[in-house]
Amino acid sequence: MFVVGLTGGIGSGKSTVADLFAAHGVPLVDTDLIAHRITAPHGVAMPQIATEFGEAFVAPDGSLDRARMRTLVFSDDSARNRLEAITHPLIRAETEREQREAQGPYVIVVVPLLVESGSWKTRVNRVLTVDCSVETQISRVMSRNNFSREQVLAIIARQATREARLAAADDVIDNDNVPLDALKAQVDAQHRVYLSLAAA
Ligand code: ADP
Repeated sequence: MFVVGLTGGIGSGKSTVADLFAAHGVPLVDTDLIAHRITAPHGVAMPQIATEFGEAFVAPDGSLDRARMRTLVFSDDSARNRLEAITHPLIRAETEREQREAQGPYVIVVVPLLVESGSWKTRVNRVLTVDCSVETQISRVMSRNNFSREQVLAIIARQATREARLAAADDVIDNDNVPLDALKAQVDAQHRVYLSLAAA
């Protein structure tokens, strides 16, 4: 199966673009959803998390105590590394399983941190970056999530730069001050390119 890795910073429009591809019948694999599922009640990551971090990090329903884990990893890089050593291989395995089972001309894997976590790039045929300015990210996420400017800037500071994401891209969708019909036109054109690459 031909695999397109779709990435972009927070608020760049990844979900919006992914939905436009899905409207063409392209199957989506969403790594954020998978990450959430493996730490949902009795998710496959939970036994290892309980062993590594203790039962205090498991909520009564068997899911990850997200608030507690967020507080820990925010200030403790080694804890973050230990958590990711558990979750990343499971996310990778589940992503590969969903890719194998996907039915369609090609598959899109939505990977918000594709550029940050190096090995993703080698596991996709093509990297598609959704691009917009930092100012646009800030205003979209402030209104979507009701975050302050400082909260959005703190998230952006932990992500790859706009330049790094553009440098990693094979293809770019421009989503800065772009009306939705023009965004759709770019997706339609890119879909035709992927159809022919996938068929080749
Ligand atoms: P991401 O998945 O990259 O975080 P989203 O697709 O959720 O980004 O987009 C962030 C917000 O901006 C959403 O509320 C979305 O509806 C809005 N948005 C994205 N692109 C556009 C656009 N071209 N025109 C208008 N609103 C947009």
